[in-house]
Amino acid sequence: MHSMEFQSGFQSITDGRREHVDPVPVTREDVAARLRAHGIAPTHQRIEIAHALFERRAHLSADQILAAVNARHPEASKATVYNTLKLFLERKLIRELIVDPVKIFYDPNTTPHHHFYDVVTGELTDIPADALRIEGLPSLPPGTVAEGIDVIIRTRPLGAGEPPPGPAL
Ligand SMILES: [Zn+2]
Repeated sequence: MHSMEFQSGFQSITDGRREHVDPVPVTREDVAARLRAHGIAPTHQRIEIAHALFERRAHLSADQILAAVNARHPEASKATVYNTLKLFLERKLIRELIVDPVKIFYDPNTTPHHHFYDVVTGELTDIPADALRIEGLPSLPPGTVAEGIDVIIRTRPLGAGEPPPGPAL
């Protein structure tokens, strides 16, 4: 896994043994270059939307991205953000995480990795791919190949959401 090449700025989260020691700010020029590398014309709005994700290196919902893009002054409509995210997904600039039918997050880290999802706080945290070993996979349906495996481990804070103690039996 570690022989893979990561683009600058992603080393700290793709290597689980290293914390955010040297966060490299991703400039708008970097973002524009990355858009071009994925065959996407770097318009102003696309740069702003990608920048919102790459700058934070976080898993954000479309609404959070919309809020980040429009934080200083109105830049983009909800429809523009959704259409742009769809384009980014098609070009594999980002990936989407459907943690439940109504919660979709967009992930700027497209290298293979897994996630913890806190069902109470809604927070997603990366798990490096090599921190999890998956055994006993079923054979694939005929005529298919594996596109990837991603695991979401759902957690909740200790004590949160415990069922009330029932009557002692
Ligand atoms: Zn992730």
